[in-house]
Amino acid sequence: MDKGAKSLPEHRLQFADTTCPKRNPEKTLGATVKDDSAATKATLRCQFCQSWNRVDVSRAHDRPKCGSCSKPMLLDRPLHLDDETFSRTVAESEVPVMVDFYADWCGPCKMMAPAVDQLAAAYAGKAIVAKVNTDLAQRATAPFNIRGIPTTIVFRGGKESARQSGAMPYQMLASMMDTFQHSGIRSLEFT
Ligand SMILES: [Zn+2]
Repeated sequence: MDKGAKSLPEHRLQFADTTCPKRNPEKTLGATVKDDSAATKATLRCQFCQSWNRVDVSRAHDRPKCGSCSKPMLLDRPLHLDDETFSRTVAESEVPVMVDFYADWCGPCKMMAPAVDQLAAAYAGKAIVAKVNTDLAQRATAPFNIRGIPTTIVFRGGKESARQSGAMPYQMLASMMDTFQHSGIRSLEFT
């Protein structure tokens, strides 16, 4: 009855305009779903005793502890990476790693810092949010040819997958992470 008589373009509009800061666990393209739900491990160095740990990030809310010193792994705040830890952490993390390349003297970086903190708390269990001090970690920074800071890069499987320069509010950081999570391997060019 009356089939096809009415089409509702509003549906399509709503869908296209949605920017969703919330978690979106399983709705992605078939092939990537399995990997995403199973691949939740990351290799992180304990910030207290410097031991490397293989951590199941999805259990962030169980407050995982360092296998060596038993102190908490602090997955709900930005992880500070340096020349020693950057490559291994990014390469061995199965979850996305968002890195804020910043410097202490940079005003916009300071402006963005609370949003980065907030993002780390909101995405604990789904992604790693990290910070790299570009003045101190020059070896880690050099390969990325970063011209302005802050620059935010999302890595997946050790590879750069999305990049945005300039200070961003929380919503933008979150949608960068969400777009990225939804789109799997697809590379996004923001700049
Ligand atoms: Zn430790």
